[in-house]
Amino acid sequence: MRWILLLGVLIGAAWGLQTFAGDQVLRVEPCNAEQVHLLKQLEAQESLRLDFWRFPSYPERPVDVQVSFACLQAVKVFLESHHIKYSVLIEDVQAMVDEEAREMELSQRSERSRNGFNFATYHPLESIYKAMDDITAQYPQLVSKVQIGESYEKRPLNILKFSTGGTNRPAIWIDAGIHAREWITQATALWTANQIACEYGHDPALTSVLNATDIFLLPVANPDGYVFSHTTNRMWRKTRSRVPGSDCIGVDPNRNWEAGFGGPGASNDCCSDSYHGPSANSEVEVRSIVDFIKNHRNVKAFISIHSYSQLMMYPYGYKCSKPKDSQELDEVAKAATRALASLYGTQYKVGSICPVIYRASGGSIDWAYDYGIKYSFALELRDTGQHGFCLPANQIIPTAEETWLALKTTMEYVRDHPY
Ligand SMILES: [Zn+2]
Repeated sequence: MRWILLLGVLIGAAWGLQTFAGDQVLRVEPCNAEQVHLLKQLEAQESLRLDFWRFPSYPERPVDVQVSFACLQAVKVFLESHHIKYSVLIEDVQAMVDEEAREMELSQRSERSRNGFNFATYHPLESIYKAMDDITAQYPQLVSKVQIGESYEKRPLNILKFSTGGTNRPAIWIDAGIHAREWITQATALWTANQIACEYGHDPALTSVLNATDIFLLPVANPDGYVFSHTTNRMWRKTRSRVPGSDCIGVDPNRNWEAGFGGPGASNDCCSDSYHGPSANSEVEVRSIVDFIKNHRNVKAFISIHSYSQLMMYPYGYKCSKPKDSQELDEVAKAATRALASLYGTQYKVGSICPVIYRASGGSIDWAYDYGIKYSFALELRDTGQHGFCLPANQIIPTAEETWLALKTTMEYVRDHPY
C-alpha cells in the first residue's frame, strides 16, 4: 500500500500536480467547547497541513478535515486520546479526484466530437469563457458580456448582463466560484446563464422578472484560483496573489470584504486557507465587484453561491446579532428552499451565517447587506460531505435545476418588493 501511494505521489509530482494519495477526509464531531478548542489548536499546527473543509467553531458543530496520509495516524491518535468522536467521510481523496478527472476527460472527448457544450461535466476556465461568449452571441438582444476587472494574474473577470432594456433598472447580482475548489458552483452558474437566456419569453415567472429587473451573473469570481484547481491543486480555495514577505500564496476572498474585516472567523496567518489578506479589498477580484456594485447603485439583491453543506444563509457572519430584516430574509430563504426541495427532495437549512455555520468575518453578503442591499444571501449547494468539493458530474444538472427554483423564488420576491 505504502509503495503504491509513494508511486502516486511521484507520478503526481512529475506532472506538477499536488496529489492526495491516501489522504482522508474525517468528520470530527466535537461535543463541547474544550474539544473545539483542541481542534483549533490542531488547525494552528502548520506542520500538519490540515485542510479544513468545514472549519471548527463555537458552539460545537461537525468539522470536516482533509488529513494527509503522512499525518493521518498522528491526527487519529490525537482525536482518540482526547475522546473526540470522528469517522472517515472520504477514504481516499486522490481516488475521488482521479475519478473526477477521468469523467472530465471522457466528457470532453465526446463534447469535441459532438461540437456542443456539455453542461453535465466540469470544464476548464477557457471552456467556460467560450460558453459565455456563445450564449452572448446566441441571445444578443438579452445577454451581453461585461468585463468588470482583471484578476491578480490578469485574467478577465467577466459577468453576463441579462437585460430587456431600460436604464438603471433594479438589478439582481449573482456570483459563484469565489472559492476556487467549489466546482459545482461555477458549473451551476453557467447552466443558470443558459437557462435564463433560453427561458426568457417562455417561462412566465422569469420573463416577468426580466421585464422589471436586470440580472448580473459572475460565474467565475476567482478565475486564478479556478485555473490552479485544475492545473495544480484540486483543493485550492484562495486567490493566487502574492503576500510580500511570505512564501504562502493567496487570500481567502470571502474574508477580504469590508465587513468586520479581520475579526473572528478569519485568519491573520497568510498560510491559512481563511487568511483575510493584508487589508479589506486587497484582492482585486473583491475590489472589482465592490466597484461595480457601487457604480451601478441599483442592485437590490446579492446572491453568492458556494458549496458544500446545503444551506441558504443571510447576514451576519462577522457578528452573531441578527440583521434588522432577519424575519423577512428568513421567510424568503424558507420559501426559496421549499421550492428547491420540491424537485428532488434536497433538504436545505436556513438561517443567519453565525449560528448556522460559524462566525466568519469579511464575507461578501455581510458587506452587501451593510452597503444597503437588503436581499443578500449565500447558498451552499450540494452535498453534505459525502463527496464535498468533488460532487460527481452526474449531479451538476440536478443541482443546477433545483438551485434555479430557489433563485427564481428569490428573484420573484425581489421583483414584488421594491425598496
Ligand atoms: Zn465557499
